[in-house]
Formats: sequence, C-alpha cells, structure tokens
Amino acid sequence: MEIINESNIFDLLNKYKNPDSKLVDEVISEARKIKSLTLEQAAVLININKPEDYEKLFDAASYIKETIYGKRIVLFAPLYLSNYCTNNCLYCGFRVGNKTLHRSTLTKEEIEREVRILLDQGHKRVLLLTGEHPKEASLERLIEDINTVYSVRNEKGSYIRRINIEIEPLTNEEFRILKDVPIGTYTVFQETYHRETYKKVHLSGKKANYDWRIEVMDRALSNGMNDVGIGALFGLFDYRFEALGLISHAIHLDKEFGVGPHTISIPRIRHADNAPLSESIPFEVSDIHFKKLVAVLRLTVPYTGIILSTRETAEMRMELLNLGVSQISAGSRTNPGGYRQAPKAAEEDAQFNLNDNRTCNEVINSVIRQNFIPSFCTGCYRRGRVGKDFMDQAKPGLIKLFCQPNALFTLNEYLEDYADEETKEIGKKLIENNIKILPEQIKEKSVEILKNIDNGERDIFL
Ligand code: SAH
Ligand code: SF4
Repeated sequence: MEIINESNIFDLLNKYKNPDSKLVDEVISEARKIKSLTLEQAAVLININKPEDYEKLFDAASYIKETIYGKRIVLFAPLYLSNYCTNNCLYCGFRVGNKTLHRSTLTKEEIEREVRILLDQGHKRVLLLTGEHPKEASLERLIEDINTVYSVRNEKGSYIRRINIEIEPLTNEEFRILKDVPIGTYTVFQETYHRETYKKVHLSGKKANYDWRIEVMDRALSNGMNDVGIGALFGLFDYRFEALGLISHAIHLDKEFGVGPHTISIPRIRHADNAPLSESIPFEVSDIHFKKLVAVLRLTVPYTGIILSTRETAEMRMELLNLGVSQISAGSRTNPGGYRQAPKAAEEDAQFNLNDNRTCNEVINSVIRQNFIPSFCTGCYRRGRVGKDFMDQAKPGLIKLFCQPNALFTLNEYLEDYADEETKEIGKKLIENNIKILPEQIKEKSVEILKNIDNGERDIFL
C-alpha cells in the first residue's frame, strides 16, 4: 500500500519552490470556497515566502477557521499512564536507552487520584498516553484503566466524559477488541513521513518499522474505529515535506474510507533528558514557518481539527487560535503521576519539557479574553455523530447548530463549578454576547438550558 509517494512530494516541493503571487492568489481563492485542496495546491501554499503572500494566507486561514468553527476552542488534558517503553526514539525521554529515568505505571488508585485532580480543574476530556511495553502498557491494562477513568467522581459529581487515546499502533485483532470500548479518537503520530529519517531516529523496538506505523489508521478504520488522529513531530525533517506527508495521509484515508482524520497534531520537538535529538534538532522549525504550517493545514483540510499542546508558549498558542488551531491542552504534565506535582518537579521524569505551565483556569481566562469560547463539549461523540456521520453533518452546519450552543453550556458549567471570580465574570459576559448570535431555531432552547445549568443541572447537550 502506498500512502506516501516521496518522489512526488519532492517533485511538487521543487516545482512550486518560489511560487509567484498570482498562483498563490488562485489557490487561496479556491480555499476560500471552503473545500479540501489537492496535494499540488498545498505544495504551492507551503512554499509561500513573500510577506504579502503570508498575509493573504493568514487572512484566509482566519476566515476559514471562523466560518467553520466559530469561536470555539476545545480543551483537554493528557494523562500519562506509564513511561515504560521498549522503543528507542532518539527525541523522547521515555526511550529504553534513557537509563536514568524513574519508570512507573500508575496503579488504579493513582489513576483515580490523577483524574480527581483533573476534574477539580474543570476538565471533562482526557487523552490517555503510554509508552510501548507488552506488560506495562498492554491493551488489556489500558481497557481496565479506561474503565477506571470513567468511574471517578469528584466532590461536585463531575466525571470524565470523553477519553481519547494515544498509544502504540495496534493489530487488526486488537482494534476489533478496542472498537467496543467507549473511546473517542485513536491517535498515533507518524513522527516523520520521510522513510530514511524515520529509520535514523527510531533505533530499535517495534517502532523501528515505518510501514507498521503508517498503516495503523487503515487497520483502525477497517476494524471498526470511528475517529482517528494523525500527527508529525516537527523538527526531524523538512517541515514542508512533513506537511505534505500529513496531507497525503489525510487524502489517502479519505479516499479509502470516505472520511479523513478527525484531528491532526503538530508537535514541535522540546527538550527531553537523555534524548540526543532534542538537544540538536536536525530541522528546527522557525515560528513563522510553524504559523504557515497551521494556516496551510487549515486551508487544505478545513474540516479536520488541529490540536496544539503545551509544547508551545502561551503567546504562540494564542496566536495560532486565529490561524486554525481548534483544540488545545491545558495545565498539562507529561509524566505518570504528574498532576499531584508542581510543574518543575514533574519535569524530572517527564517525556519532554513544556513551554506553557499555566493552570487550566489561567488558560481559560486568556482564551476568553481573546474572545474565544473554551469548550469541554463531548456531545457529538456521545450522540454518535462520529466518523463519516460527523463529517457529513459538519459540512452543512452541524457546528453552528450543535457545537456552538454545547460549547456555551460546558463553559457555563465550568464557570459555575470551577472558575475563579474574575474568569466567571468575563466568561458570563462572553456567553451573553454569544447567545445573541446563535441561530434563531436554537436560541430559546439554549437560553433555557443555560438557566438550568445556573440552577445546578449538568451534562446537558444538543
Ligand atoms: N508512545 C506512544 C505514544 C506516546 S508518545 C508513541 O510513541 O506513539 C506521544 C508523542 O510525543 C510521540 O508520538 C512524539 O511525537 C511526542 N514526543 C516524544 N518526544 C518528544 C519531545 N522531545 N518533544 C516533543 N514531543 C515529543
Ligand atoms: Fe516510547 Fe513513544 Fe517515547 Fe518512542 S515516543 S520512546 S514509543 S514513549
């Protein structure tokens, strides 16, 4: 199966190396019609290098972002279950070659404690992560842990409403088991789409097999999974190649399964202890190229969510909300058991260091100040609007009719239960302003639900 045609990607990158502004204009005006672009069109955009073309690209990205997603930003927290790993990825602190890392796998009680901390911060969506290890991170254990996470209630009665997972590539048989477990998105990053680089940076273990990894989403979607997330680790190879790699992967899945990836993640390499590649990053991506990358993805695959983690600084994260990012993590730790630790202490056994150590409340406060709506919504997945159904409905306006009011409901819950006074005040104003612009047919009902939330009702969604 050929998912990535390397020579074609290199040819396209060469062909459109210094794209003239007329060609850029043509592609951007196609994108403004809000439809997926071709790999060739993406190659034009990712090569943009003139300030005036950047400006046009960023304008179009904001326009598309706003038109499709409105002002919502979905929030989640990662939860690391185990840092045992048999692989040797040269950029990662969990790699088997890191002999000084303190290894641990959370017990049931430890998971419950971590989840309670996240719930007390207001989180409703978690992403479970593990290293790759036959015993410490087996599928059987993961399924037990998923049940544990869903079972936790904090003092206010809050609970995790959606679990996404980011674990090793599974087999066909394993996906047939996982499909009956209530999870949202199954995510695996390819890291690099460039085969030769992939080989150089994944020294040993199962992950050394490029094909096993790149074919994982085909196995997932053929065996009953609904939503999958892809990603590349930026800094391993030319960002332009990786961008076209991600887009080729998305086009392939769309063609084979009638639905592209639910999300794309775009991590940039951060410092990790005893991870040589994180010290000298081979293809460091500058901030301006990183912004361009987000904008190009926004134009090329407009209905695919873009996820940004706390690997980026607060400033960069806020800027990228305008250019296309639709989901962000907040208050994160990247070590098992990290949520009971202060950020500095948590760094010791972390997978990598973070760049945004603000609390969840601080992140929400600044998201609101930028006039975006922080959302903890899990409505689509729980109503079965997933996979192709989600995409088919998203296009004619699912987001305005469901996601927008649901975002306001979950924000109102957060403000009532967990926000500090100042955040509550600005959040309530934001809700008021956004009620005014809801579609007429759902306005009255939404106002009633918001009142019910003020009066203590929880977990209501359209
Ligand atoms: N072990 C699993 C899932 C957890 S790792 C796996 O490898 O797929 C999650 C992601 O963290 C990895 O896919 C990788 O892209 C990213 N990562 C690893 N080391 C990193 C670093 N130093 N900086 C930024 N991201 C890193
Ligand atoms: Fe293990 Fe994943 Fe880290 Fe690689 S990136 S060493 S597989 S945890």
